[in-house]
Amino acid sequence: MSKIYEKAPAKINLVLDVLNKREDGFHEVEMVMTMVDLADRLEMEELPRDQIVLSSQAGFIPLDEKNLAFQAARLIKERYGVKRGVYIHLDKQIPVAAGLAGGSSDAAAALRGLNRLWNLNLSTEELETLGAELGSDIPFCIRGGTALARGRGEKLETISPPPQCWVILAKPPINVSTADVYGKFRVSDIPKHPSVADMMGALSRQSFHDMCASLGNVLESVTLNRYPEVKQIKDCMIKSGADGVLMSGSGPTVFGLVSKEVKVARVYNGLRGFCKEVYVARMLT
Ligand code: ATP
Repeated sequence: MSKIYEKAPAKINLVLDVLNKREDGFHEVEMVMTMVDLADRLEMEELPRDQIVLSSQAGFIPLDEKNLAFQAARLIKERYGVKRGVYIHLDKQIPVAAGLAGGSSDAAAALRGLNRLWNLNLSTEELETLGAELGSDIPFCIRGGTALARGRGEKLETISPPPQCWVILAKPPINVSTADVYGKFRVSDIPKHPSVADMMGALSRQSFHDMCASLGNVLESVTLNRYPEVKQIKDCMIKSGADGVLMSGSGPTVFGLVSKEVKVARVYNGLRGFCKEVYVARMLT
């Protein structure tokens, strides 16, 4: 029986701006998103019976219909009338509820993988449209690369990738709910919005310096105030020499960008005592 594998990389926002709250309750956003090589791995295998079965070595995620990979499998199966079953093993490497879109990336990988496993021949655009039904970040996770996202995050335009660099990710031991952060966010609290145009310029010039100078995430206004440990991690990374530092998504993970390998150990060691969960990754360019 055939078995296939898909990687599900973590997502970071180089810019996350919120423009306003829409009448449908969603926020209108502008985000520059890219991926790093910290990734979950999905193994998918056909089952002789018509059933979706999920397993994972990570004890702290749901393995039923609450799991986004399960929801993705059910959606594609029902929409295209697939009468076959699948066993999905989720090797979780991305920290959960961290602001790195781990669940969304798993769902995207499940859609890509099942498209292959069941020979559905769906295009990337068709998979993106399907993914948007499950979550705003899923279309980007299907497409990958680097993109400017608008709307509620589902309207994508592929843009230049970032210059290669090291990405040090630090997650404090707290769980932050994305819905909670958006609920507490007020556009009127933001004195200066980050510039998507500046970031896009930096990327098209492949300027690491300008990319670091253009980083911005308006959700820091909520999460940093509420969780001082996130601010402490940011300060610590800046002090130990990271070239650019930003909170990812709604947090609590903070990432530091470093162009020279010699600095990686300095930033990593600087976080000791502050934060146990630290990952060193590269940009997926
Ligand atoms: P986002 O920023 O997109 O809200 P996140 O990166 O902060 O997401 P996730 O790791 O996707 O957070 O997990 C958020 C919640 O979703 C968790 O509390 C978990 O119970 C649930 N969840 C559902 N499916 C998954 C999955 N495949 N992997 C991890 N968590 C999942």
